[in-house]
Amino acid sequence: MVAKTVPVPSFDLVVFGGTGDLARRKLIPGLFHRFVSGQAPGDARIIGAARQELDRAAFQAHAREALEEFLPEGQRPADQVSAFLDMLDYVRIDAMSDDGWSDLADRLSDGEDRVRAFYLSVAPRFFGPIAARIGETGLATPKTRLVVEKPLGRDLASAKTLNGELAAAFDESQIYRIDHYLGKETVQNLMALRFANALFEPIWNGHHIDHVQITAAESVGVGNRGGYYDQNGAMRDMVQNHMLQLLCLTAMEPPSHFDPDAVRDEKLKVLKALSPVTGAAVDDLVVRGQYSKGPDGPSYLEEAGDPESRTESFVAIKAQVDNWRWAGTPFYLRTGKRLSARHTEIAIRFKDAPHSIFGDSAGMLKGNALVITLQPNEGIQLRLNIKDPGPGGMRVTSAPLDMSFATDLGREVRMPDAYERLLMDVIRGDQTLFMRGDEVEAAWAWIDPIIEACEAGRADPAHYAQGSDGPMESHILLHNDKRRWREVD
Ligand code: NAD
Repeated sequence: MVAKTVPVPSFDLVVFGGTGDLARRKLIPGLFHRFVSGQAPGDARIIGAARQELDRAAFQAHAREALEEFLPEGQRPADQVSAFLDMLDYVRIDAMSDDGWSDLADRLSDGEDRVRAFYLSVAPRFFGPIAARIGETGLATPKTRLVVEKPLGRDLASAKTLNGELAAAFDESQIYRIDHYLGKETVQNLMALRFANALFEPIWNGHHIDHVQITAAESVGVGNRGGYYDQNGAMRDMVQNHMLQLLCLTAMEPPSHFDPDAVRDEKLKVLKALSPVTGAAVDDLVVRGQYSKGPDGPSYLEEAGDPESRTESFVAIKAQVDNWRWAGTPFYLRTGKRLSARHTEIAIRFKDAPHSIFGDSAGMLKGNALVITLQPNEGIQLRLNIKDPGPGGMRVTSAPLDMSFATDLGREVRMPDAYERLLMDVIRGDQTLFMRGDEVEAAWAWIDPIIEACEAGRADPAHYAQGSDGPMESHILLHNDKRRWREVD
């Protein structure tokens, strides 16, 4: 059975940086899937806009190569590929000069009434200038949308500057700030689970939940991007955006409606309720790490190209949401590179049963856990205590109620990539899964003092073995609270 799709209106999508890595790996394959599914109409136009000297045919060849590289053969029938390539066009443009802008205006001139989206798949220093030029050249129609992606600033001040630059040319209702974690089916399912079932909401609070663990583990290192990564580190690259967004969706109050501002208002309240982590508290609540040299590759310092670097490739933070629902319930965040597996999950750990009626011989009753896995295999698992089968007396064991989305919905569903969903939301004009400017600023406002304290010498990075679950100090962070991290697997 094929998942239901609702077609979007005709659109013109201009991809600045259409020849770059993100466009090749995610945007072009994602748009192709949406076209094949019937969601993106055949009269849509996708215009690559970049600095390379290409013509339309060369860009189409480039897109064909991207489809061949990133999609299995069975997913790209030749007739569909050529129909999709017919939708593509290319304009050579320089974001920083006048070159190419009138060509772009010519291409778009007969599409004044269509949805028009500009996807800025370019380095962030171009975001402001491109937004300004779109405004100056009169390319922004009432149905125009602007899409940008992380990094959205590197601190509160630069995020405010960027928001100001975007706001000078576009209304907030036209700006789509992508956090691709929010496009994951499981993340949306977290909201369905919480707000479409009466079961969980009454126990979704500190009276019943012991703590929450959010883990985003990667098995790869920084590789040849070490020099670039070293300017940011895990705190800016992962915590400020993806991890805090996941925390918000887990902790937020039920919005009155599933509409963009109602959802984003609730997320903003969570960010504003985060207990500040500043100064000396950083030593107690934050652990940073760098991976050591190992059999699978060089150390972080070697890959960063700076033996003195203090940038973290791993971070663990104990966060608290200061409100009635969550008082006293820690949210432990952990992310890192070169860990034992690639695995991202939100684990809600419920409190232990208050008393065991089964006696010592039954074994320990483990607290229930609801585990929402984002990657690699999206799914939700509820761990329950059940009787160990067999006649050997009453022994209790922990077992999962397991829902793996790709197989358990009674139909073979190809899990759409997050970008597919988000691109179609842009065209539909639905901002629910995109970050609002004030959310981005509130996240920086919480992270900035942590980064400042780290840069001033606190929470020095500890070394950890490649293929481990991070430095010992991260385990101690939870051990001090009589808790343990779930294994990364
Ligand atoms: P890239 O370097 O591969 O591509 C950059 C593109 O920008 C190229 O098409 C290039 O021609 C174009 N470009 C450069 N200078 C230009 C100019 N003056 N005028 C017009 N076009 C110009 O970069 P990328 O990896 O595709 O990343 C693009 C953006 O997306 C960045 O902001 C990056 O941080 C963000 N991002 C990328 C990924 C990813 O997976 N690659 C993931 C998340 C976020």
